[in-house]
Amino acid sequence: MAAASYDIAVIGGGLVGAAIAYGLCDGKRRVALLDEGDIALRASRGNFALVWVQSKGLGLPDYSAWTRKSSDAWQGFADELERETKIDVAFSRRGGFTLCLSDAELQARSDWIKRLHNQSAVPYEILDHAQTKERLPQIGPSVAGSIFCPLDGHANSLRLFRALHVALQQRGGSYLPNRQVSSIDGGFRLSTAQGPIEANRIVLAAGLDNARLAPMVGLNAPVRPLKGEIVVTERTAPFLHQPVVNLRQTDEGGVMIGDSQEESSDLNVRTGAIATMAARAVAMFPHLAALNVVRSWAALRVMTPDGFPIYQQSSTHPGAFVATCHSGVTLAAAHALDLAPAIAAGTLPNTLAPFAASRFDVQTAA
Ligand SMILES: Cc1cc2nc3c(=O)[nH]c(=O)nc-3n(C[C@H](O)[C@H](O)[C@H](O)COP(=O)(O)OP(=O)(O)OC[C@H]3O[C@@H](n4cnc5c(N)ncnc54)[C@H](O)[C@@H]3O)c2cc1C
Repeated sequence: MAAASYDIAVIGGGLVGAAIAYGLCDGKRRVALLDEGDIALRASRGNFALVWVQSKGLGLPDYSAWTRKSSDAWQGFADELERETKIDVAFSRRGGFTLCLSDAELQARSDWIKRLHNQSAVPYEILDHAQTKERLPQIGPSVAGSIFCPLDGHANSLRLFRALHVALQQRGGSYLPNRQVSSIDGGFRLSTAQGPIEANRIVLAAGLDNARLAPMVGLNAPVRPLKGEIVVTERTAPFLHQPVVNLRQTDEGGVMIGDSQEESSDLNVRTGAIATMAARAVAMFPHLAALNVVRSWAALRVMTPDGFPIYQQSSTHPGAFVATCHSGVTLAAAHALDLAPAIAAGTLPNTLAPFAASRFDVQTAA
């Protein structure tokens, strides 16, 4: 079968792949975005939609800087998407909270944010119960205090997903669903059940499947699934205008609750996990006890061993890039506006060198 041919093929149409493909579509090259079918695993459709800074990068200042860069670019990115697609992705950056339910929790969180601040100058405030209540009047008595970071925000990630897909096609990119890539041969020739696809450059953005695809082009992407569960309540009157790390009111009025992190790849919703999350949420905002839960789901994060992203070009197969991270909403702006142009230029900048997977290579003592 004759192969369809492109300048760049992005493998994986989740938020990471879609943001990169969108950024690559500037009218100068033929871009294809290859994706699986609708029942594929997609963190992009099951996430919490925070654009979050206050917990990112302790141990790797470059990741803090990259996150902050994306957060700073997010408003312009959202505006551009809306101009192009008329889809409002409901981005808002009014700061965000981590609420603590005991003095010990508040102490541990305070120590943590101070270390992040000392490393990367992430701005923060530590608030006691009364100070938190001034800003969030509906908190319950068991909230000991909170950490506030003015750079945090949130968006509607399903609309972001839709907007990226619409915009990349409007910009002339080709979205190719039901094209699961089974193998990659040098050059690059991608095998799919619908026939081969050829491309001069490829970007591996296939989420968890990057672990299987990367070695085919001399790359390494040791990602594993980390399950997260989320519940959503019925809509309620606006009461929370800034997100909390585990609880936020969406632009549509429902309250999303979710912060489980489970070493599992099953997609079953567990009543135990949900009950714990709901109990913490009600302790934070007691009036939530009166709301009905209307949906719940589990989804799989795409997690690297140290939690930081992987961006790298293959040295054995130049032109093959890998991109993977567990914060594809937060980093969508950086992926579209910074990473994509670098891939288009053929070289990743030195600022992305710390994200190479070679950091996982085992050092043996001499
Ligand atoms: C519970 C939960 C909460 C989260 N909360 C947040 C948050 O608040 N903020 C934030 O920034 N991030 C959050 N995330 C993470 C965010 O959702 C992901 O980083 C984001 O979805 C990007 O994922 P991805 O595109 O790499 O992978 P996915 O969304 O999994 O997409 C991978 C895509 O690749 C396709 N694919 C796979 N294999 C192949 C193949 N061989 N050929 C072709 N296509 C293939 C799949 O069909 C899929 O569409 C959360 C994730 C979870 C699970």
